[in-house]
Amino acid sequence: KRTVRQIAAGEVVERPASVVKEFVENSIDADASRIQVTVEEGGTERITVSDDGHGMSETDVRMAVKEHTTSKITDITDLESGVLTLGFRGEALHTIGAVSRLTIKTKPRGSTDAGTKLQLSGGTVENVSKTGCPEGTTVEVDDLFYNTPARQKYLKTEATEFSHINTVVTEYALANPDIAFSLSHNGREVFSTTGQDNLQGTILSVYGKEVATSMIEINQEADELPDGTINSIRGFVSDPETTRSTREYMSTNINGRYVNSAEVRNAILSAYGNQLAVNRYPFVVIFLDIPRDFVDVNVHPRKMEVRFDDEDGICAQVRKTVENTLLEHGL
Ligand code: ADP
Ligand code: MG
Repeated sequence: KRTVRQIAAGEVVERPASVVKEFVENSIDADASRIQVTVEEGGTERITVSDDGHGMSETDVRMAVKEHTTSKITDITDLESGVLTLGFRGEALHTIGAVSRLTIKTKPRGSTDAGTKLQLSGGTVENVSKTGCPEGTTVEVDDLFYNTPARQKYLKTEATEFSHINTVVTEYALANPDIAFSLSHNGREVFSTTGQDNLQGTILSVYGKEVATSMIEINQEADELPDGTINSIRGFVSDPETTRSTREYMSTNINGRYVNSAEVRNAILSAYGNQLAVNRYPFVVIFLDIPRDFVDVNVHPRKMEVRFDDEDGICAQVRKTVENTLLEHGL
């Protein structure tokens, strides 16, 4: 069955950034309003993700690290109807736990008791104890791939692994301006956002002042869009003249969640025409609100790919909207 294969596709933990991605998604699914990511040596030494989400009881956390357990679906039809949470495969904690030393400290929201600390080594539960901790969850991974030398061999330099982590946290920070994110590497804070639901403020925190001040706002509602397949297009795109990004990364979000759509990215790039210098990419943070009947966001859970009913139509509208916005600003 297609759904089974889709679930299996998520099974590989490639690198430290994959771990960060899974943990951040779990924190978002747990309704966190604050998510702190702290990593050492590009995440190979240690990855800590701490949130103020709904937390887990001792029973919950014992379940959570077992194979294919998720609290997020009860039935395969939930998958077919399009689950709204980011995780639903119930394998991330189990898979990551099997290839690292994993410690979870957690306490349910509103609990007045002590929290629970669970430690796993290479997939084996070593210790479960009571611990003093705030409400929410802290997941720590030490020595990723310590027991799988083959995987360890494929890790790149500390700088490269950290840049993948930075991309992941940036992605989620930009997609969730209502959550306060922070990212630190080797004891130094790389960025932090306020979580005050202000996209421009989030862009400033993540990309810095120069980029933030060169961004142009896009705000198109359904009545300004031709054929009713998009409810709205919002966000910011950078002025082509001040754009110096050498990274092809653009934050494209559909119905409030980050997705990887080469088609949407290309539509945006084509709106810039030949205005961008060679090998330069715009900074883009764009949110498309598309009626659920016209988009399938569960095509590939790991890559966050989407399938549109009318891809050409959607891309044409995105392109036109970005073009018009640039034109209105005389660009
Ligand atoms: P999935 O996210 O696909 O359900 P995971 O292996 O990532 O699977 O997580 C297993 C379960 O552990 C989740 O369904 C959730 O109940 C619980 N969990 C994991 N991380 C957190 C967190 N940060 N806060 C609260 N619960 C969590
Ligand atoms: Mg998950």
